[in-house]
Amino acid sequence: MNNMRVALVTGSTSGIGLSIAQRFAQAGYRVALHSRTSSVAGMQLAATLAGSHYFQADILDEEDRRNLIKHVYAQFGRLDMLVNNAGESSIIPHDDLLAATPDIWHRLYELHVVAPWQLVALSEPYLRAAATADHPASVLNISSHAGVRPKGASIPYAASKAALIHVTRLLAKTLGPDIRVNAIAPGLVDTPRTQDWATIREQWLRNAPMRRSARPDEIADVALMLTESAYLTGEVIVVDGGMNLA
Ligand code: NAD
Repeated sequence: MNNMRVALVTGSTSGIGLSIAQRFAQAGYRVALHSRTSSVAGMQLAATLAGSHYFQADILDEEDRRNLIKHVYAQFGRLDMLVNNAGESSIIPHDDLLAATPDIWHRLYELHVVAPWQLVALSEPYLRAAATADHPASVLNISSHAGVRPKGASIPYAASKAALIHVTRLLAKTLGPDIRVNAIAPGLVDTPRTQDWATIREQWLRNAPMRRSARPDEIADVALMLTESAYLTGEVIVVDGGMNLA
């Protein structure tokens, strides 16, 4: 059991993170499941995925971040992959500048940039220890289409996801060859968070070459592809059904 690879997927009790956790478990990873509050759902999920365990932590809290990595390593004794997926957003019209308050800016930057950064920093020794020449360890950051194009639920959200992309590239340069660092920039994905986003969904139906939003498992497919490569690093894969071209 101890030589089975271990992946920590933050925010993995719903949406994209849940699909990534399920896909990695199918591929033979032991998965460290995580969320901020839904510990009952997390433990029920852990019971269905062989070798997985659930960890609760608010990654806006620095002490919780430290405990998360400490407890994951204590439980599994190794860490091969970190997926920084946890995130949040609410819709703020881009032209309503005062509605995007400094508190919102600080919160989203902390959640989408500082927290992933610190989780990588805390994981680095374990990731390096797990890496081999044939199978480097890896970090996968879930950014957004909004971090690539001037779009998105709000300007603070888009700016924080753009910063995460730059951090991805900087870390790829810094942490290779032991640790590969990549990002996925999804377009609209059907998750609990976006179920009420009818107007945005309509734009995807009308304008995206694929004429629909994505299913979470389609993001998980790309996550697994990035994980299985031993060579790809510093890449940002836009998975938006071609909306980037519209
Ligand atoms: P979701 O709301 O279904 O899941 C988000 C997860 O993040 C939950 O498990 C939640 O517990 C966790 N989380 C949020 N804040 C946290 C905190 N402070 N501490 C710990 N955990 C926290 O969302 P989703 O739609 O699956 O989104 C997942 C990721 O994908 C996010 O980073 C999001 O920005 C990104 N994304 C989503 C879409 C989309 O259309 N759904 C598009 C582009 C990017």
